[in-house]
Amino acid sequence: MADIGLVGLGVMGSNLALNMAEKGYTVAVHNRTTSKIDTFMQNAGPLAERLVPCKTVGELAAAITPPRPVVIMVKAGSPVDEEGAKIAADLARGDMLIDAGNANFHDTQRRVKEFTAQGFDFIGMGVSGGEEGARHGPSIMVGASEPAWKRVEKIILDISAKFDGEPCAALMGPDGAGHFVKTIHNGIEYADMQMIAEVYGIMRDGLGMSPEEMADVFAKWNEGRLKSYLIEITGKVLEAKDPDTGKPMVEIILDTAGQKGTGRWSAIEAQDLGVPATVIEAAVAARGLSAQREFRLAGEKLFGAADTAIGDALGDRATTLDALEQALLAGKIAAYAQGFAVLSKASEEQNWNLPLATVAKIWRAGCIIRSVFLDDISRSYSASGSIENLMMIEPFTGWLKATEANLRKVVSAGLLKGIPMPALANALAYFDYARTGRTTANLLQGQRDFFGAHGFERTDKDGEGFHGPWAMGPG
Ligand code: NAP
Repeated sequence: MADIGLVGLGVMGSNLALNMAEKGYTVAVHNRTTSKIDTFMQNAGPLAERLVPCKTVGELAAAITPPRPVVIMVKAGSPVDEEGAKIAADLARGDMLIDAGNANFHDTQRRVKEFTAQGFDFIGMGVSGGEEGARHGPSIMVGASEPAWKRVEKIILDISAKFDGEPCAALMGPDGAGHFVKTIHNGIEYADMQMIAEVYGIMRDGLGMSPEEMADVFAKWNEGRLKSYLIEITGKVLEAKDPDTGKPMVEIILDTAGQKGTGRWSAIEAQDLGVPATVIEAAVAARGLSAQREFRLAGEKLFGAADTAIGDALGDRATTLDALEQALLAGKIAAYAQGFAVLSKASEEQNWNLPLATVAKIWRAGCIIRSVFLDDISRSYSASGSIENLMMIEPFTGWLKATEANLRKVVSAGLLKGIPMPALANALAYFDYARTGRTTANLLQGQRDFFGAHGFERTDKDGEGFHGPWAMGPG
């Protein structure tokens, strides 16, 4: 009999099933398009011994030892509801459904209610690491009740990535907590990727560097404080050649970015919670602008392309590259500070009690944003317990002090020459706000009171609801 079931043999599901089989679990597998089950089994090699192909969900249910855990790894959205209902029809009370796709956490909260009312456990499980991670060890963020988590903890820890031997999987909290943490992970991922792309823009359009030269720079950065999966693969993307033309692959790839929703959700959730996550928002918007290719091409014709050469505005080549590396580190600190601030506020609002030190720990390996930087964050959280804002604690405060001038120089050089850098510019504005004791919102409050009698607080008296002289009536 199988230990667990898995429905959805797409990229992620098939690799997750092989991962579980490799760790010694017997897995009953099913896919809506049943021909894919045969293909999957044919490609499973020796692991096929621990895989039970099932043409129907009824067969799948019959193949698993009760109480049955069944992983659903299908396209997010209504397919999860459709497959969940189909599977549940063949399950018994006490069985468990685990949605391992990229669900919107609001959907997960609804599904927990619906399936719990029918006598099932429902776990919302965020999985990061792409195809490779799913196969050999992803980072796994689980939303579940404590007893439900205990039932599947061993298998989830077994299949997860390991950082210094520690599993990169953990219980984040109840119901939608796991999918929420995954959503914010993806928001941070968008920000990280966009800031790297902006620095690439300075190198390509501002300095006229070739992909090969840039690949060398990223390879070098990957030995320093920026060492991360995303910096590593950026170097690899830049050095790759197109097999058809022999040209650098990156030159052939169309400049319109795709997105599937999680980055956008993270910006929406941040807005709903009232937490400024401007670097993440800028990264989401930048993908949207990249996708408006016709608009951009028409604009280039109308306004003329900018003369983007920055020459030696940032110093000689070595000094310039150093400035770019530091700008990226400063931007990264701001983006992660925002992402963790969103998690912290959501935890409070939802009563999730999210273990933020653990979040940083399980992101150190397996997931797309894995980096040595996350090890630094994890150590800070472990040392300080709760953190108001990442920028305000060491070592991040010290690093920001050391790098902020270069972030400013890089953003200024880019903006002066018409190179768009929305994420880095927002990181800089976030930093500047963070050290501005007196903002200009006194004027906003004056305007709001003028047109809407919204009232304001005064700097010289306690209380609220004061009005300006404009509210005293006409005249
Ligand atoms: P995929 O390769 O496109 O596979 C999609 C799977 O969903 C297939 O098994 C497909 O079945 C099934 N499916 C689609 N529409 C369905 C429907 N209406 N009813 C029932 N089944 C349906 O997708 P994937 O990349 O594995 O992604 C699966 C989930 O993991 C998604 O939520 C995705 O966002 C998430 N995820 C993906 C990655 C990644 O890097 N790819 C990383 C983390 C999380 P058929 O074969 O019958 O079409």
